[in-house]
Amino acid sequence: MLTGLNVAILGGDARQIEMVRKLNEWDATLHLAGFDQLDYGFTGANHFDMDEDLVEKFDAVILPVPGTDESGKIDSIFSNQQMILDEDWVARTPEGCVFFTGITNDYLNSLFQKVNRTLIPLFSRDDVAIYNSVPTVEGTIMMVIQNTDFTIHSARVHVLGLGRVGMSVARAFHGLGAKVHVGVRKSSHFARALEMGLSPFYLKDLKEAAGECDILINTIPVPIVTASIIQKMPGHTFILDLASKPGGTDFRYAEKRGIKAILAPGLPGIVAPKSAGKILANVISQILMEHRKGEQQT
Ligand code: NAP
Repeated sequence: MLTGLNVAILGGDARQIEMVRKLNEWDATLHLAGFDQLDYGFTGANHFDMDEDLVEKFDAVILPVPGTDESGKIDSIFSNQQMILDEDWVARTPEGCVFFTGITNDYLNSLFQKVNRTLIPLFSRDDVAIYNSVPTVEGTIMMVIQNTDFTIHSARVHVLGLGRVGMSVARAFHGLGAKVHVGVRKSSHFARALEMGLSPFYLKDLKEAAGECDILINTIPVPIVTASIIQKMPGHTFILDLASKPGGTDFRYAEKRGIKAILAPGLPGIVAPKSAGKILANVISQILMEHRKGEQQT
């Protein structure tokens, strides 16, 4: 249980609603900033402004999944209020206060280097990334169906990358009857793809593979689907780029060639915010309980 822990939630999206519900069930004392336009209330959660002294009581602070922008601005779909996370604010929290974000960025990294507080980027954890790949796959299937006029079954689907997302995507499309080819750079990934019944190829051979592709799903967050790759693709190929912004596709050239290419960030928050929020709430509460146990033992 999280009884007696003061947890602040600063802005966010529909995923935060499930987090509030779950953390409330575990009896945390919740403080919300950036939820003033939410049209229903939460019993037991307190609304606060970031300039209040309450910050000095927080045991944990939960930022939105994207964290902040590069100037420290925190977004909330439930508020128009300007919220900024800066060094002064973080330094006013108690020393043991733990901050959670989905992903981190240069602004947050440099801020937390200056202030002695812990920042936990949840999506860097394998468990979170793997759980989160489930709603990502469902969103991917939805996007592919919406943007093609042929079945996934029997389509030649190229998945680039066999990491946490790539593996789940490849497995799901294989299960739907697609001919799944996986582009990898490591021999261990090549072997794993074969073991899964997929057709692996090395990324150095992507140009040749691109000529035989109906759907390309990229999970590699570097420029990989370049103009010279897109040039080889059949005109009907659909490119879905799942990699974090700005993706790995030359979207300008794809448009010029008339190939449909879409960057689709944040699918879990779009297709299954409740499940995505629950995944994050479960891990946050686990970490907080371990943290509390650690503090009690010292
Ligand atoms: P991951 O486990 O780290 O996998 C990344 C994959 O990219 C690995 O196969 C890795 O291969 C490969 N890779 C990385 N850099 C490469 C390079 N320079 N050249 C060739 N291959 C390279 O990451 P993940 O959890 O699967 O996430 C993949 C991406 O999807 C991330 O950008 C993540 O933010 C994003 N994502 C998007 C959504 C969405 O809704 N769109 C949801 C979740 C995650 P090696 O092992 O050989 O390095």
